[in-house]
Amino acid sequence: MKPQLLNATQYAGLLKIGDVLIPGDGELPSFSKSRCAEQADRMLAHMYEGDRSGVLFLLSLLRYLPRFAVRGLFRLSDRHESLPGPVAAAARLVNLGVKGVVMTLYYSDVGEGAAVFPVLHWDAKVVETPGAAEDGAVKPLPPPAEAAEPGAVESARAGFASLRRVGLDERLAHLSSLKRVILRRREEIIDRIQRDTGKSRSDALISEIFGVLDNFAWLEKHGRKALADHKQHTPLALMGKASWTWYEPLGVILVIAPWNYPFYQAIVPIACAFAAGNAVVFKPSEWTPLEGLIEDLLAEAQFAPNWVRVAYGDGAVGADLVGQKPDKIFFTGSTRTGRKILAQAAELLIPVELELGGKDAMIVFDDVDLRRAAAGAAWGALTTTGQSCTSVERLYVQRSIHPAFKQALVEEVNRLEQRIDSDGDADLGAMTVDFQVKIVARHLDDARAKGAEVLGREWDGVSRLVPPVVVDGVTPDMLLAREETFGPVIPLIPFDGEDEVVRLANDSEYGLTASVWSKDLERAKRVARALEVGGVSINNVMATEANPALPFGGVKNSGFGRYKGEHGLHAFCNVKSVLVDKDSSKIEANWYPYTKEKYRLFTNLTVNLFGDGLRSFVRFALAGLKLERYSNKAAKQGRKGGSR
Ligand code: NAD
Repeated sequence: MKPQLLNATQYAGLLKIGDVLIPGDGELPSFSKSRCAEQADRMLAHMYEGDRSGVLFLLSLLRYLPRFAVRGLFRLSDRHESLPGPVAAAARLVNLGVKGVVMTLYYSDVGEGAAVFPVLHWDAKVVETPGAAEDGAVKPLPPPAEAAEPGAVESARAGFASLRRVGLDERLAHLSSLKRVILRRREEIIDRIQRDTGKSRSDALISEIFGVLDNFAWLEKHGRKALADHKQHTPLALMGKASWTWYEPLGVILVIAPWNYPFYQAIVPIACAFAAGNAVVFKPSEWTPLEGLIEDLLAEAQFAPNWVRVAYGDGAVGADLVGQKPDKIFFTGSTRTGRKILAQAAELLIPVELELGGKDAMIVFDDVDLRRAAAGAAWGALTTTGQSCTSVERLYVQRSIHPAFKQALVEEVNRLEQRIDSDGDADLGAMTVDFQVKIVARHLDDARAKGAEVLGREWDGVSRLVPPVVVDGVTPDMLLAREETFGPVIPLIPFDGEDEVVRLANDSEYGLTASVWSKDLERAKRVARALEVGGVSINNVMATEANPALPFGGVKNSGFGRYKGEHGLHAFCNVKSVLVDKDSSKIEANWYPYTKEKYRLFTNLTVNLFGDGLRSFVRFALAGLKLERYSNKAAKQGRKGGSR
């Protein structure tokens, strides 16, 4: 399949240049053999108009140069910084344009996008779209242009029809079997998570594998009870009847996931939705698809293929799936995308649950165990290289302990080991995507420019192995205090009093979780109640989400809806209310006919039912009997007979 934005000459030029730059080396295929040239349309479509025509022109030109000349030209272009003015500009153009295109296509295709930037020594402006991201992020290069598998939702709907014959016990048995498969294949899963995300092995084990298994254990132990029919209270006025809630599936749930916890964010929502009897269409992030893994695990656990469909692709694919009208959307990702999905779903009236970004506060009062609080802050801010929605992103420390706390925290952070490990021995791994790395660099630059002090190891501002840092002197006007940084950065902010810190913490558009640290539990709880968030850990960090019994979700721009625990299971249900009346002969007092006498008797009943004391109760009982007798008589005899 030849890219459509290239004519035959330009395509031949691209292949020739590609093979000169990347001839292949036994391990990696040559450029033309990698077939990544087929993705050129996607890349060219993201260029500025002017850049695109420049690249097309160069491709045509280089097509006609002999190979040795092309090679020589590239060598020259590598040295553009030492060349004289106009020659340097031309050489830089070659570097930015043709060479950039080839390298980006090739390396992003083999999932090693990180390698592109060091190779080019170049800020990949070529994939930036003007105004595309208000935060200045580099627009991601989408994966191969594929639409959502047509009918993914329809196919899951057929799966749902077959699931209707699979009872709760059988569904839970399937989940137990999936748990065993995951437990057995854990090391292989961690390999895959690491390959897609670059996170440390221990992060993958603790937050993804353990977290998933813990949720399965909760479902095994409590799922049956949470999804069983619940008998509800029936009031006196409805005496003789029984009330129930039944927890029935909604149909097809569309789960859309982000890139930071690709395994956990796949399995936990799938398991909850499935336990409730739904079929699922799951769309992983285009950056961390774990391609084929989820299907493989489910198949081994004997799930029928259309109970859970996996649809790969970018945001366009996600939007296409929303358009296929699932019965509910469970979205985890950025606030910006959440808004888009909500708008699209509003037109189709599809219920949506949004688990969005955060800017979580950790509040440390002066009576804490300093060493423990500093260790908690380091982990809470840096686990998964700071790329958690509930990472500590603002660390408020009471002024009297600020210097000592800062010292303990910096010591803790400087001790951490960072690399992409194979043995579980590294504390931090790499960040996952370059556009997020750029946001971290921008936030740090902004903080420095506004007078903050960045404490920690040096960083070139480009490598994905972003070293953990503490930033002191952060003020509310800094990006670090306002926008989601999503990287290994700990902004320290001193405070004096309780009211002040509550005001500062609540002064955020986000409201996901928070933590409050103090030996004075009354104070800690008071502050926890005053915080505008979906969950608070007291004297611990990121701990509410560690308990699968606790519902998880946010307020404000962090989204709405809850998942996990009993509340969360019910979010995947049609909670059906049922009232059973065993008596088939009685005419209800509130049914027709309405008469003056009935009005009097009903008033008497109302006043005594809602009055206080035993006397009222007795009167209510008598009024009830009278009203019931009257109502039945009136219904039999008609209005005239009954009103006598
Ligand atoms: P993102 O919003 O860019 O993408 C999330 C998913 O949405 C991806 O699968 C993407 O392909 C898809 N998508 C994009 N546009 C779409 C559209 N128009 N229609 C349908 N689907 C679309 O988020 P991200 O960068 O992958 O993830 C990082 C964000 O996720 C951070 O803000 C983080 O805080 C948040 N997050 C929140 C939670 C939580 O539980 N609250 C958990 C993890 C991550």
